[in-house]
Amino acid sequence: MVSIFTRWIELLFPETCVVCGNTLRYSEKQLCTHCLSDIPQVYIHNKNHNPLETLLWGQIPFVSATSFMLYTKKNKYASILHSIKYKKNKDLGIFIGEMFGKELVKSGFLHNVDAIVPIPLHKKREQERGFNQSAVIAQGISNISQIPVIDTAVMRIRYTESQTKKNKEERLRNVANIFEVTNYHVIQNKNILLLDDVITTGATCISCAETILEQGFIGTLRIASVALAT
Ligand SMILES: [Zn+2]
Repeated sequence: MVSIFTRWIELLFPETCVVCGNTLRYSEKQLCTHCLSDIPQVYIHNKNHNPLETLLWGQIPFVSATSFMLYTKKNKYASILHSIKYKKNKDLGIFIGEMFGKELVKSGFLHNVDAIVPIPLHKKREQERGFNQSAVIAQGISNISQIPVIDTAVMRIRYTESQTKKNKEERLRNVANIFEVTNYHVIQNKNILLLDDVITTGATCISCAETILEQGFIGTLRIASVALAT
């Protein structure tokens, strides 16, 4: 039951839509109905040679790859990832993960997947942020699919500068050998879904995937990102 105190707090500090900033109605969570229905979802989960698969093709062996939504810095929906990452909006991460999870389950993309492995942050960065955004989104997918999240297999062993101002070559160099499988027993022989938050050039994701393939003794590898930058 919602207490009178909670109602008062809501009246004084109403929750607002993370995308447009309008006050949310009582039944709305994180995004208003209008923004929710307009999320630039890509619906490529069943499409071979989709833009993410094309981007990663030839660089690592994987079964399939997909993304939830398109992302451009100027698009108002960029605020979703910004809010999860920099405003510590963990609930939004779970919420988006659950939306993504429903689409993945519906499309059959998760068929045969045994575990979801979120791309790890360096411990120092995770402490700064309070949590790993990819792990939180993975938890949302897990809530819907019942596929467990394994975040104890891989570690990010080097603290790297932000990738945002780097070109493709610099990005690849910046993220070479930054991951290490520290416990292969938990992923050995398993069909893994590697989850990233935003894929731009794919450099970080490829580096993590290479490490898992070399050191993890896994079954198969699938890749998913919440956002695909264009
Ligand atoms: Zn809105």
